[in-house]
Amino acid sequence: MIEENVKKILAELPQGVQLEAAAKTRTPDDIKRAIDAGVEIIGQNYIQEAELLFSAVGSLAKWHFIGHLQRNKVNKAVPIFDMIETVDSVRLAREIDKRALQQGKVMSVLIEINSGKEEQKFGVMPDKAEGLIREISGFKGIKIEGLMTMGPFSGDPEDARPYFIITRKLFEQIKALKLPGVEMRFLSMGMTNSYQVALEEGANIVRIGTKIFGPR
Ligand SMILES: *Cc1c(COP(=O)(O)O)cnc(C)c1O
Repeated sequence: MIEENVKKILAELPQGVQLEAAAKTRTPDDIKRAIDAGVEIIGQNYIQEAELLFSAVGSLAKWHFIGHLQRNKVNKAVPIFDMIETVDSVRLAREIDKRALQQGKVMSVLIEINSGKEEQKFGVMPDKAEGLIREISGFKGIKIEGLMTMGPFSGDPEDARPYFIITRKLFEQIKALKLPGVEMRFLSMGMTNSYQVALEEGANIVRIGTKIFGPR
């Protein structure tokens, strides 16, 4: 099932779009199946779970962190992950920078945008993103490579479109600034119910869980 699901999704993705398997609650076997079928990025939300899975699966794929990262977990995240998609504050960026340098690594990061401007949600507000990026772009232990957004959850994928548009426009604006140390390459948007819309709005990483692995 997992193999078929992955192949089906890969066949419909345009050139240049990467499929990230959002793998929270899945087993090492599930993840290996997805990788065998062609998934090149595994997304993880929790450090403890990621440590277990990483020790079982290893570097067969790239590992991206897509959950909310607490600063006291950064030390454990740095050796596992190839990218942290959810940087939303200077404080978090500073901690990643410090730990990455200690571990002899430059961590690729995306800036998480709170595109729905929801009070209780993570991510930086759209109008604060450029300032955040300017402030952390000189950090030697991180490399800013794009933006990520979740958008407010809703049943209807069309409802997600405005939030994807906001994020893509921001992506283009920041890219046009050509800030030193910033390379805007990746736009990570869309999940099982919304990735088709995200693709139409310019996503080049889609994070899909349910449609690959089944319901959680
Ligand atoms: C779980 C998760 C996804 C995938 O969700 P599905 O609806 O299962 O495809 C994508 N992004 C993030 C950040 C997630 O936590």
